[in-house]
Amino acid sequence: MKISGTTKLIGILGRPVAHSLSPKMQNAAFEAMGLDICYVPLEVAPEDLENALRGLSAMNFLGANVTIPHKVPTAKMLSRLEGAALITGAVNTIVNQNSSLVGHNTDGAGFIRSLNEVADIDFQTSAALLFGAGGAARSLAVALAESGIARLALVNRTLEKALAIERLLKQHFPELTTSVQPPGEVNEELYASSKIVINATSIGLEGDLKMPFVAVDRLTKDHVVCDIVYTQSQETPFLSAARGKGATTLGGLGMLLHQGAAAIQLWTGIEPPMEVMRGAIES
Ligand code: NAP
Repeated sequence: MKISGTTKLIGILGRPVAHSLSPKMQNAAFEAMGLDICYVPLEVAPEDLENALRGLSAMNFLGANVTIPHKVPTAKMLSRLEGAALITGAVNTIVNQNSSLVGHNTDGAGFIRSLNEVADIDFQTSAALLFGAGGAARSLAVALAESGIARLALVNRTLEKALAIERLLKQHFPELTTSVQPPGEVNEELYASSKIVINATSIGLEGDLKMPFVAVDRLTKDHVVCDIVYTQSQETPFLSAARGKGATTLGGLGMLLHQGAAAIQLWTGIEPPMEVMRGAIES
C-alpha cells in the first residue's frame, strides 16, 4: 500500500480493536479498487469517544466503522442517523459529509445478504429463532423484520433486553408476530416451526459447545443455522454440531464481509470487489 500526501483515511473505532479483520479486508478492497484510501484501527476508550468523533471530522476522515463497545454511544453523539441506525439506535458506519458525521448501520443488511448466499428463504412464510439480545441481535431482529419475516422468537438470558427489542419491533413493524422467552423455555414446537435458528450471543467462540440452552438435538436438515460469532480458521462448535444434524450452516464471516462491503458503498458509492474481500478474511 502506498501512502501519499493525498491519501484519505477511514478508521475503525473500538476497544479492543487489534483482533479486528476489518483493516485487512477493507484495505484489500481499496487497493483492488485503485482508491487512494487507507483504513486504520483506532483504539478508543469510552471516555474519549466524543473527542475521537470530533477528531474524525477535524482530520477530514472519509468516515469510520464503529465496533464494540461504541455502537450505541456513537448513535447518541451524531447529529444525524439514517436507515437501520435510526431504528436500532446503534451505528456501525459513519460517513463524513462535508464535516457532518452521518451514522448508518450495515450489520443487519450484511447478515441478510450473507444468509441469502447460503439459503433460498421465503421470509414471508418463515419464522426465526434468535438467541441473544445484545447490539448485534437488535440489528438482526430489525433486518429480519425489514425482510418480511413472518414470526420472530427472541430468546435471552436477561429477559428485559429481549423485551426491549420486542417493543422496538412492535413500534416499527406492528404486523410482525413476536414472542419472548428465557433460554430454558424454548420448546420442541418452536424449533420445529422455525426455519432459521441464530446464535447472536457472544458465547461459543471456542472449546466446548458452551451453549446448553440450544437444543442441538432438535436441529434438522430443514433448518438454516447461523452463528454470527466468527472465527477465521474453523467453524464454531455450535455450527459444527448443527452441521452434524444435517442443517444448512452459516458462520459470521459472511456477515462481516457484507456489512463491510455495504460500508464501502456508503463511503465511495462504488460496489467493492467481494471476492477480494472474501479472500482477505479467509486467508
Ligand atoms: P453484546 O451486546 O455484548 O451482547 C451479548 C449477548 O450475549 C447478550 O445477549 C448476552 O446475554 C449474551 N451472553 C453473553 N454471555 C452469555 C452467557 N454466558 N450465557 C447466555 N448468554 C450470554 O454483544 P453484541 O455486540 O451483540 O455481539 C454479539 C456477538 O456477535 C459477538 O461475539 C460479536 O463478535 C458478534 N458480532 C459479529 C458480527 C459479524 O460481522 N459477524 C457483527 C457484530 C457482532 P445477556 O443480555 O443476558 O447478558
